[in-house]
Amino acid sequence: MSDHPICPCGSQATYKECCGQYHSGAPAPTPEALMRSRFSAFVQNKTDYLMATWHPSTRPEHLDLRDSPDWVGLSVLGSDTNG
Ligand SMILES: [Zn+2]
Repeated sequence: MSDHPICPCGSQATYKECCGQYHSGAPAPTPEALMRSRFSAFVQNKTDYLMATWHPSTRPEHLDLRDSPDWVGLSVLGSDTNG
């Protein structure tokens, strides 16, 4: 009975204040926000959102989340990977 579920992307913010707004149509302001929102969409089986935000050149014609071994976690966050 949680009115404010934590966002599945791991941001510690509520889903509604985090990725939920992007799933509702708001543009993600940063690449990280987009990445998080797509991860949340994957967790929640929002294939429409995944397809809509997928670059056409790499997007599969049909998306079957049960056949996506790459999506085991959110590992790309930010760009401070130097070192
Ligand atoms: Zn989120």
